Amino acid sequence: MSRSFDVIVIGSGPAGYIAAIRAAQLGKTVACIDEWKNKDGKNAFGGTCLNAGCIPSKAMLESSELMHRAQHEFKTHGIKTGTIELDLAAMQKRRATIVRQLTGGIAGLFKANKVEGLVGHGKLLAGKHVEFTPADGEVEIISAQNVILASGSTPIELGIAKFDDDKIIDSWGALELTEVPNRLGVVGAGVIGLELGSVWARLGSKVTVLEAMDDFLFMADRDVAKVAAKDFKAQGLDIKLGAKVSSAKAGKSGVSVSYDDANGSQTAEFDQLVVAVGRRPHTDNLFAEDAGIQLDERGFIVVDDECRTRVKGVYAVGDCVRGPMLAHKGSEEGVMVADIIAGEIAEVNYEVIPSVIYTSPEIAWVGKTEAEVKASGRAYKVGSFPFAASGRAKAMEQTSGMVKMISSKDDDEILGVHIVGPMAGELIAEAVLALEFSASTEDVQRTIHAHPSLAEAFHEASLAVDNRALNFPNKP
Ligand code: FAD
Ligand code: NAD
Repeated sequence: MSRSFDVIVIGSGPAGYIAAIRAAQLGKTVACIDEWKNKDGKNAFGGTCLNAGCIPSKAMLESSELMHRAQHEFKTHGIKTGTIELDLAAMQKRRATIVRQLTGGIAGLFKANKVEGLVGHGKLLAGKHVEFTPADGEVEIISAQNVILASGSTPIELGIAKFDDDKIIDSWGALELTEVPNRLGVVGAGVIGLELGSVWARLGSKVTVLEAMDDFLFMADRDVAKVAAKDFKAQGLDIKLGAKVSSAKAGKSGVSVSYDDANGSQTAEFDQLVVAVGRRPHTDNLFAEDAGIQLDERGFIVVDDECRTRVKGVYAVGDCVRGPMLAHKGSEEGVMVADIIAGEIAEVNYEVIPSVIYTSPEIAWVGKTEAEVKASGRAYKVGSFPFAASGRAKAMEQTSGMVKMISSKDDDEILGVHIVGPMAGELIAEAVLALEFSASTEDVQRTIHAHPSLAEAFHEASLAVDNRALNFPNKP
């Protein structure tokens, strides 16, 4: 007789493994199937996020930031260091260790929650059967009451710059370089382009980023994008906007790139080229034709607001469905679906999902940008507070940037918060909570913030909304 589970999850990234653990917590029998193989040939749970995305990129951002600060900032603090040298092998070893520990942690969590972790390929068949092809061993047909598809995404490949895993690489390749390229080209000034461009620029590469759009960070608030563009330029990141790449030819010594921008046809030579122009949903061989799953025109699995596919009892979560491709969005969808399967009431508030770019300064936001509020026609008021006026930021030697708050004029509700500056990725959590609770500006104004702290800038921005900031001149 074939094995059977209450829930089978295909994919163990942050969407899938969290769904599996939550379903098990709710008393369901659960299996989670994943085929991920790392570059050392070893299988691991955790998906893109833990193996090739969020975690390793943050490890490299932290290490390279420390190197940069040791080289450029310590002397300001009165710390003499002598020559600072890079040991890239040690830095990469640390990254790999963090990844190994965290992915091993998921295997431990599966055990503790009695989730059956299955290593291999999963394919949904008709009738909620799943064909499991183990990494070694025989194909098995498993059945389930409910199936959650959490197959994630993969980098988009450009026809004119195909990945060769050597000269033209994707973000995963760019995270695991064993030598610092002298000249690194990056196609795409999105989140990955900026984060990984920053890593290698801090470690000594001359980094050029080619971005097709004319606007820098088009998805961010304009004031925030302006500060970020200035700071990245000062750090030596050469970001070329309106640059449309027409060809990239890899040779023995590097990559020759042609692109068109406002000044005409250009060429550039790089040692290596990272292509980071977005990611696409990964659904290859994920379901049989007669399984009833529908894809939209961009390849995402079609789901409703509660992540239900067209097939009763089959759900899809994370990067393989609509919405921002963010780990925390996928995880919350995983929790929601597990709760729904167990008969609980659950929802995801898609209006309140924070975005963070882990550059220096960090960039973070939640809710609407000023342009979006303006376009909605709602009357609004804006306040901002610069970190240059924050005692804590001064003590940290990190005074670039600001907190900006946008609130409605009619009922004082906070509509959006945009931060560029130190620890923006941590500071945004308070704004997320405020928006989740539909807080008014006055609620934040009346909340006591510790002194001296970066969070005071959030408080002061809320005061500035009503022209009553205390530590910075208000608008006349
Ligand atoms: P994934 O993490 O992609 O996991 C899907 C899993 O499913 C994989 O392990 C895959 O092997 C498995 N799988 C797929 N099909 C099958 C099958 N048929 N059978 C068996 N297994 C299968 N997001 C953030 O929120 N914060 C960040 O800081 C951040 N940094 C990033 C940095 C980089 C360089 C990259 C590339 C991404 C980053 N992201 C970040 C995005 C984040 O990684 C994704 O949004 C997140 O991993 C999506 O989770 P997921 O579970 O949907 O899919
Ligand atoms: P992205 O969508 O953030 O940025 C892609 C950029 O490439 C855009 O600015 C786009 O205009 C540009 N582009 C597209 N085609 C181009 C072309 N032919 N030539 C030049 N530029 C071109 O995508 P990404 O940086 O690849 O990241 C993928 C996903 O991973 C994102 O959705 C992001 O949410 C997620 N991610 C998140 C984090 C984080 O949360 N900190 C970090 C990394 C990745």
